[in-house]
Amino acid sequence: ICAGCKTPIGPGRFLSCMDSVWHPDCFRCDACDKPISDYEFSMHEDHPYHKNCYRELYHPKCDVCKDFIPTNNNGLIEYRAHPFWMQKYCPSHEDDETPRCCSCERLEPKDVKYITLDDGRKLCLECLNSAIMDNDECQPLYIDIQEFYEGLNMKVEQQIPLLLVERQALNEAMEGEKVGHHHLPETRGLCLSEEQIVRTILKRPVIGPGNTIIEMMTRPHRLVRRCEVTAILILFGLPRLLTGSILAHEMMHAWLRLKGFRALSPEVEEGICQVLAHMWLESEITSGSSATTITHTASTSASTSSSSVSSKKGPKSDFEKKLGEFCKNQIETDTSAAYGDGFRVGNKAVTKYGLRATLDHIKLTGSFPY
Ligand SMILES: [Zn+2]
Ligand SMILES: [Zn+2]
Ligand SMILES: [Zn+2]
Ligand SMILES: [Zn+2]
Ligand SMILES: [Zn+2]
Repeated sequence: ICAGCKTPIGPGRFLSCMDSVWHPDCFRCDACDKPISDYEFSMHEDHPYHKNCYRELYHPKCDVCKDFIPTNNNGLIEYRAHPFWMQKYCPSHEDDETPRCCSCERLEPKDVKYITLDDGRKLCLECLNSAIMDNDECQPLYIDIQEFYEGLNMKVEQQIPLLLVERQALNEAMEGEKVGHHHLPETRGLCLSEEQIVRTILKRPVIGPGNTIIEMMTRPHRLVRRCEVTAILILFGLPRLLTGSILAHEMMHAWLRLKGFRALSPEVEEGICQVLAHMWLESEITSGSSATTITHTASTSASTSSSSVSSKKGPKSDFEKKLGEFCKNQIETDTSAAYGDGFRVGNKAVTKYGLRATLDHIKLTGSFPY
């Protein structure tokens, strides 16, 4: 009896495998449904497969080069995966100069061409979609952040200019500051106290062949010192949510300086700034979800205008929402003492005592309440 069609085998050729006998035509691959005549075949959960069909189905493929991930010296399939995005790739791409997006950190797949910014940074097309590229584009976001601070009862009364700048302008401004600040190896924002001349980006850069920037229009901007803070600078070319979180961070530096907080340790100052960045991201992510919109509408049913509140703010696409989660995750899992540990201690304090009490405590003691 053939194990495939359950009829007698009769005379002629037959196969004997998997503890049964089969008509040659009845022993078929579970993937392509064609008879398996090869001497070697693959088994998976009691189903036979052509070796190639099996490989196609079950051997992991690299999300970058799209090939099968090779086996290592021990004959094992070894791959790397981004801890947040779970992008799977051959270990070799970590040092074969495969471009990595400067915002979301994903590697460039071979069928996609990332944008190259003028300072060599690479930007994936999904991050480019919401990227803030010139000074004017940045201003609505600045208003969002100002409103966010106002909502926390932490309005910054002074009109502090916000300038979107290139990497070089940011580096120069950093050197131009008298008081040394603590910075990440890759600084993306700056809160200035000195009078300086800073070149801002006047117009959205023109992206040409090869997805590189062919035209960059900048203009010098003279900063005047009217208060403790002369300007906030933000690196251009980052997606809206990332730009906003950097801005929320720098805005907190400004707030601390203007409110007379002095000589805080890096852990306390950067930590509380990261707490604010994190809070802003959180508020953006939730304001973009329809569930919150519904709750909001319901709770304000007595009032007349409850719609269009979240029309402008919040992530517009699934990717943007995911990117917001990614930015939050970056803050939470930062391994540095100032930014990472500072955030975690600060966040715990704010969760326990509230933002106001935590800030009062910092002002009095220079440290987070435990
Ligand atoms: Zn049969
Ligand atoms: Zn097959
Ligand atoms: Zn690969
Ligand atoms: Zn990206
Ligand atoms: Zn900072």
